[in-house]
Amino acid sequence: MNRPTDVRELLFGDTWEYSPAPQSADFADYRDQYGHFIDGEFVEDDEYFESVNPATEETLAEFALADASTVDRAVDAARDAYETWQQTPPSERAKYIFRIGRMIKEKSREIAVLESMDGGKPIRESRDIDIPLAAAHFFHYAGWADKLEYAFPGAEASSIGVCGQVIPWNFPLLMAAWKIAPALATGNTVVIKPAETTPLTAMKLAEIVQEAGLPPGVVNIVTGAGDTGSAIVEHPDVDKVAFTGSTQVGKVIQRAVAGTDKRLTLELGGKGSNIVFDDAPIDQAVEGIINGIYFNQGHVCCAGSRLLVQENVHDEVVAKLQHRMETLRVGAPLDKNTDVGAINSKQQLDKITDLVEAGVEEGCELYQPSCEMPDTGYFFEPTFFTNVTPSNRIAQEEIFGPVLSVMTFRTPDEAVRKANNTPYGLACGVWTDKGSKLFNVAGELDCGVVWGNTYNQFDPGSPFGGYKESGFGREGGRQGLLAYLELDET
Ligand code: NAP
Ligand code: MG
Repeated sequence: MNRPTDVRELLFGDTWEYSPAPQSADFADYRDQYGHFIDGEFVEDDEYFESVNPATEETLAEFALADASTVDRAVDAARDAYETWQQTPPSERAKYIFRIGRMIKEKSREIAVLESMDGGKPIRESRDIDIPLAAAHFFHYAGWADKLEYAFPGAEASSIGVCGQVIPWNFPLLMAAWKIAPALATGNTVVIKPAETTPLTAMKLAEIVQEAGLPPGVVNIVTGAGDTGSAIVEHPDVDKVAFTGSTQVGKVIQRAVAGTDKRLTLELGGKGSNIVFDDAPIDQAVEGIINGIYFNQGHVCCAGSRLLVQENVHDEVVAKLQHRMETLRVGAPLDKNTDVGAINSKQQLDKITDLVEAGVEEGCELYQPSCEMPDTGYFFEPTFFTNVTPSNRIAQEEIFGPVLSVMTFRTPDEAVRKANNTPYGLACGVWTDKGSKLFNVAGELDCGVVWGNTYNQFDPGSPFGGYKESGFGREGGRQGLLAYLELDET
């Protein structure tokens, strides 16, 4: 293991230590126990499960566990509400959606704290990225609601019906916003299930929806685990299924929906590459690599988890990467200085650990900085591997953790072939000083998003989605409306 323990000391000496800068959680208001949100009310259920704070391993709150009968109740409420919601004038629908966005903004600091407590992500990220982007999605789609008749020239757009939506734990509120905002703008109603480990901000959103006066049943939020998700997907009165999660579960869902007339969109896993050419601004690229893989502990579907670096600058890039990683701070998610927070769950920590062990066993060379690690909670050091070949497990499988696999290439063709050598096709980054090279390479990459000289940039106006085993369907922008509309040629 290569640990240059003296680098931090060389850089900062003994005296330049950060003082803790904790975000107070005192004002964060949450209950000990949450029921489901069905037909505009919080309703109890027979069984409950706990969600923990992964940084402390303490239980935060209990959430009701929905079985098929609870899901049935939620779908019934969504069906009843659909009759009036689809007829509600679009400009009225827009007002509700706008109001939800505004209320998220008003409560953003509190929601950011809750998101970091329940999921482990650094407060800097939930405060500056997750929550503002969630609000921005509601604002964006509020704007579309009364423009649908102009959005698709030559076609008449109408709503689909009841949407069953299942989302993962890596961006809990943001994924809920990606699902709910376009569905409401297009006149559909929803039954949504957040992930088992991160249901807290979804229930906060339920409170907002209630306070915003949205007609009962338009948004229903049920909590539970995989079985609850599968009850939503299989419910005969659900017209459209929207799923974000792993490719493995995506395949199960696609099989479950096959042979029905349900519409389906799947936003699945990824194994993105950051491709760094020798003419790239190297310092900027190193920042992009760090942001690409260590943002949100690497729990990002579009993470730049593979670094493809041109052979002649490999050593320089790796040295600068090591140097930069020495300054990363791993620790309490609520500390404003924290760069890398807690791994979302013990299960995910075990998965990351197993894959890193596989990397070592397969002969890849591991690097971890000399950062201090917390004593409790689920944490994993920011890690990268050199000496990786495309056939290694760590180069092929989605690790969904702060682990980067570094490989080299000599020509643009080789870079493209290596980047495309994965079952996934979600996102890539290209770093070069030459615009023509950037556009040529971007055009050859089999993935839904290509970032040029940047990484992990999101905007509600920009469609996001995958190819190959990363799924199908787009979220965001005008394209994101298509998943929730029926189009008839006029
Ligand atoms: P997951 O295990 O597939 O779970 C996703 C959601 O599906 C959770 O709510 C889960 O419930 C539920 N679920 C599990 N089994 C189900 C079944 N048989 N039927 C219906 N629902 C079921 O994925 P995850 O581990 O939460 O999330 C990580 C994955 O999401 C990664 O692969 C990542 O790349 C992907 N992701 C993709 C995008 C994108 O836009 N492409 C965005 C974010 C994340 P429980 O968690 O409660 O068990
Ligand atoms: Mg939790």
